[in-house]
Amino acid sequence: MLDRALVFLDLETTGATAHFDRITEIGLVEVDQGRHMGEWSSLVNPERPISSMIESLTGITDAMVAQAPTFAELARDLFERLAGKTLVAHNARFDFGFLRSEFRRVGLKYAPDVLCTVRLSRSLYPHERRHNLDSLIERHGLSCDNRHRALADARVLWDFTQHIHRDIEAAEIRKAVADQLKKPQLPPGLPADLADRLPESPGVYAFYTQDNVVLHVGKSTNLRVRVLSHFNGDKRPAWRASAEIARVEWDAAAGDLGMQIRHRRWLKRLQPLHNSKPRQDEELWALQWDAVDGPSIPVPVDTAGLDLSGTARLHGMFRSKRTALNALRKIADEHGLCHIGAGVQKGPGPCLGYQLKRCRGMCVGRESAIAHSMRMMQALHALRVRDWPHSGPIGIREHDPITGRTEIHVVDRWRHLGSADADTDLQDILQSRADAPFDAGIYRILVQYFKSKPRDGEIIVLG
Ligand SMILES: [Zn+2]
Repeated sequence: MLDRALVFLDLETTGATAHFDRITEIGLVEVDQGRHMGEWSSLVNPERPISSMIESLTGITDAMVAQAPTFAELARDLFERLAGKTLVAHNARFDFGFLRSEFRRVGLKYAPDVLCTVRLSRSLYPHERRHNLDSLIERHGLSCDNRHRALADARVLWDFTQHIHRDIEAAEIRKAVADQLKKPQLPPGLPADLADRLPESPGVYAFYTQDNVVLHVGKSTNLRVRVLSHFNGDKRPAWRASAEIARVEWDAAAGDLGMQIRHRRWLKRLQPLHNSKPRQDEELWALQWDAVDGPSIPVPVDTAGLDLSGTARLHGMFRSKRTALNALRKIADEHGLCHIGAGVQKGPGPCLGYQLKRCRGMCVGRESAIAHSMRMMQALHALRVRDWPHSGPIGIREHDPITGRTEIHVVDRWRHLGSADADTDLQDILQSRADAPFDAGIYRILVQYFKSKPRDGEIIVLG
């Protein structure tokens, strides 16, 4: 990593969106062949107010930047300072995105090699969970005299880099750096400027042959990085290197949920040749049982035809009838339930569980059916399929701070009705797509989403 010209850089900004927020401070440390060559920093007049939240984080106020030069005034000198050097930043997508946007506004095309210290930390310390700057400072005993100011944070990155060179074999660092900087070898059929056109945003992509056969569908939180990685990895499957790929299509999303939903839709619609098990979650089975309303033993049911708005009688979600019954057998053994009463064995008793001294004897009249039912209810309770947790349809809002894109997904009773960029289209979707079919894959995606505890303002009640 140290055998090149590096510029460790950090920015402070008026907010998180490169599209309309602006830079308020730039700090950088220049290093060449491992030698510290100098530092530079400047406040920048963003020509717009700084939010109070950001102000309290960085300590940079409107008054402080009022007399500072604008980015346009600094651009030419800064551009020359950065020219030919590898940009190193923490969560580099953010800093690079801002710099690129600011340079673009003054007509300069900034396209450096970029190294991200979050990715570097992740690949060098894979067992660690946290890689934010505060975690790196704490973990490696670094210090920072002025957190959230540009130059101080840029210095931390240089310290971190020196630290890893003492801590880790040079060959390992070289490999991690090379992995990030590797230039893709694009198949001849693809446009040479593909890398420039791919957005650094979440989304899905598909590879096509000349004859419009879909080779592969993938998803990523960073389309650019992921699509290009297919052409620079060492372990790529043969088809990825093949000259067969004539076209790449992609669809950017505003967030993770939009990416997952698109991925599901594309897999279903395009049926790609090289995806592993594209139909893996086509089926969804549940155990139907209720202590009062029956049936008397849990029965595996295919959920394809069921209305999942009221689901209190359904338990679990399984990929097949067999996995549903296996799960039921396991639950019966764990809770001392009767194999016959649980429906995994036909009568008459005694059941296999009783012979193994697990069943408490409902099958031989030693436990009452009611007592057995009560215990079954407890055993199955954790598996109960959740009722739709809202009184009607909702919109789920997602926003990508880097591209500034917002998207709202309209969902109702575990079904995805459609997505829109603007609130005004939501009622249209509600009316025209109200009868969208239930899809097991979408169900799984939504359950996962609700587990992550949506933030305030993400959910819009529509019904
Ligand atoms: Zn039994």
